[in-house]
Amino acid sequence: MRSAQSHTVAALSFLFLVMCSSVPAEAQAKAGAAKAAADQPPEGPDLLLRDFAPRTHLDVKRTPIERARFPVIDVHFHMDGNADPLEVARIMDGLNLQTVVNLGMKDMWGETLKSYAEKWVKRFPGRFAVMANLDEKQINHPDFSRQAVAQLREDVRNGAMALKIYKELGLVWKDAHGKLIRPDDPRFDPVWDACAELGIPVLIHVNDLKSFFDPIDRFNERYLSLTLDRRSSWYGTVDITHDQLMQHFENVIAKHPATTFIGAHVGMHYEHLYSGARWLDTYPNLYYDIAASCKHLGRQPYTARRFMIRYQDRMLFGCDIGRVPNPEVYQYMFRVLETDDEYFEHVEPNAGLPWKIYGLYLPDEVLQKVYSLNARKLFPQFRRVPATTAARPRAGR
Ligand SMILES: [Zn+2]
Repeated sequence: MRSAQSHTVAALSFLFLVMCSSVPAEAQAKAGAAKAAADQPPEGPDLLLRDFAPRTHLDVKRTPIERARFPVIDVHFHMDGNADPLEVARIMDGLNLQTVVNLGMKDMWGETLKSYAEKWVKRFPGRFAVMANLDEKQINHPDFSRQAVAQLREDVRNGAMALKIYKELGLVWKDAHGKLIRPDDPRFDPVWDACAELGIPVLIHVNDLKSFFDPIDRFNERYLSLTLDRRSSWYGTVDITHDQLMQHFENVIAKHPATTFIGAHVGMHYEHLYSGARWLDTYPNLYYDIAASCKHLGRQPYTARRFMIRYQDRMLFGCDIGRVPNPEVYQYMFRVLETDDEYFEHVEPNAGLPWKIYGLYLPDEVLQKVYSLNARKLFPQFRRVPATTAARPRAGR
């Protein structure tokens, strides 16, 4: 009804404008207003799902966090190498962000890595670090394993402190016959073994959200975000399931006990933390980062809090944003980890998550470990950085 009325109003306004064409400025303004009214999403049953933007009346505590309570080492970042390190360090100082580790943009080896290390890591030791990547173009070369290990040795000499593997392994990279290459493919075994020998961890992202493998239909809880950006969906494009990839990932960790693995995004277990716990209980060579995970941890605050406390020695801080550090994203993560705020907005680049976030209110000793102490245990180059700066008064309760 209301929708029909507003259309009538718009039509009448237009008629009025035609009749008053002797005053063009006024007419234009009115035409603009009429158009805006016509563009408004309808009220009532005709409202479309994509226009639904509820505003809560829930009036609860809001605790803005400007700066982390303890110094932070971010082990999962994708830096714009062309940025100015001094400018980036200034942003980091404001957030109590001590170190940012660049995982590259799938191109971090050879000259690219060397010049990044020269400009960022060697000039600002302790503030910036870099991980090496594998060269996708070489994957199907008969001599891939030997070449990859040789490249990795060179990259470590040039300053790489770990190897980063992207989710393309398992979801995109294909063999010479066009079949997806499994993460536990034996061609990578010499690479994992070389990491153990070089004393560097492998930060590895295998798999994707279960909803990204599901049909984009009314049952998909990521329906809105997937319709806004369909590229995230693997439905109908890959011949593999979330559960199969989880198994292939576990095979790698089990087969290489001397290699330290850091599973990116809580090892992709954040929708099933119980299995993430089983892996940590089974494999002492395994850690997780919490990159891009707060939107998942913060919607199961009781389970996630217990998980973070139980595995406080195995969790690393990571943000997973790109270009230069964005204070808004860090401050959101600090709020999730430090406060007991309830029912707040996640900070997510692609909109359309149909849930809100709750703070985990982690105890100080857990916060310190997740923020930096665990990273310092894994990466000797960070051990020289001072253990704490002045803590600020505790937010929350
Ligand atoms: Zn990432």
